Amino acid sequence: MTASGMKPRVLTILGATGTIGVNTLDVVARHPDRFEVFALTGATQVERMLEQCRTHRPRFAVMSEPATAAALRARIAEEKLPVTVLEGAAALIEVATAPEVDTLMAAIVGAAGLPATLAAAQAGKRILLANKETLVVSGQLFMDAIAASGAELLPIDSEHNAIFQALPRDFSGDFQQAGVKALWLTASGGPFRTLSAEAIAAATPAQAVAHPNWVMGRKISVDSASLMNKGLEVIEARWLFNARPEQIKVVVHPQSIVHSMVEYDDGSVIAQMGTPDMRTPIAYALGFPERIDAGVSALELIGRQLTFETPDTARFPCLKLAFDALAAGGSAAAVLNAANEVAVARFLDGAVPFSAIAASIAHTLDTLAGGAADTLEALLEADRQARGVAEMYLDRVQV
Ligand code: NDP
Ligand code: MG
Repeated sequence: MTASGMKPRVLTILGATGTIGVNTLDVVARHPDRFEVFALTGATQVERMLEQCRTHRPRFAVMSEPATAAALRARIAEEKLPVTVLEGAAALIEVATAPEVDTLMAAIVGAAGLPATLAAAQAGKRILLANKETLVVSGQLFMDAIAASGAELLPIDSEHNAIFQALPRDFSGDFQQAGVKALWLTASGGPFRTLSAEAIAAATPAQAVAHPNWVMGRKISVDSASLMNKGLEVIEARWLFNARPEQIKVVVHPQSIVHSMVEYDDGSVIAQMGTPDMRTPIAYALGFPERIDAGVSALELIGRQLTFETPDTARFPCLKLAFDALAAGGSAAAVLNAANEVAVARFLDGAVPFSAIAASIAHTLDTLAGGAADTLEALLEADRQARGVAEMYLDRVQV
């Protein structure tokens, strides 16, 4: 118990060294009475993790790589910090499911976050979900695990957090009963919104990661440039809100002020707005159902123009590929996600052009017919096969 008599929430942050992790710790530090940090995890950034250990004094720091864990362990010993360093994928699951922990921030990037996030769902934790790839890969399995354990799922992705705020508090996934007609996901359009197809095809990694409105990790920044991020978010919305694909609409809104909207049967459209700063959805989920300070600057609407456009799937085929994978069902979304992760990594390495991302995903989806998606093993196997097919395709692509 703290001075205020409130029992603090005990947190594990998966992906603490990333953009979402850093923003989460920023909000947590504003509320020392409310939160206690149990464990932080990272992969490669030893110095940043060391700094976070100094400031937040977690019981455990996990590095998924043995080499970085060893480096961190040496530094922690030098400074005599009271933090135990663990390593590897099993340790991620351990700190995500530990009995002391009640809240998990899931902010690892990619399917690498799936096993620990799913384990926390099975263990009945409150899950703050940033790692959208988890839901894209394992949607049905993950939602079933949440329902079976009574875990609580709060979306961090700004669009889904906005929709969550605009839906009735007691929304059960029944659109008809709640009088909900459609969910409108807004998309900034990314850095290539106004470029020609030729210019997009020749875009460099530096151009792709220069997002106009948000500061994010490199992978999601490339996803925003290709509109695959919106595609992944359509699939994420399908599972989070039990929406049919035709009930999910995408609209390009370059100012990123309206974070998403819910359209009701009576014609009402309820939107959530705010300065584009991930600390708002993070604070909403951390404090839920209370509102807590996020350190975010006030929204200045005077003099602003808000505009809305239809997304162009001819220049941005990844958005259509995601709708296709959703329609195909089974493991198709896991295949889409894995092929995308491989292609984005190759693009960021400078090994393939931007246009190879959509081409390799289309090829991988065509090659691997959607299989079963009802066990973690089946999904991880689909992920593995898709990575193999995408790698082979990309080996033949020249820059
Ligand atoms: P970053 O790349 O900034 O951070 C990723 C985190 O995951 C880092 O802590 C990284 O460790 C860790 N990590 C990377 N690979 C592995 C691995 N194989 N095993 C374990 N840990 C790993 O990404 P973001 O913070 O931008 O995004 C995180 C998630 O949140 C993504 O799923 C993204 O789609 C989602 N999201 C992000 C938003 C944003 O504004 N950034 C908005 C909405 C959703 P290290 O850095 O030490 O190597
Ligand atoms: Mg988003």
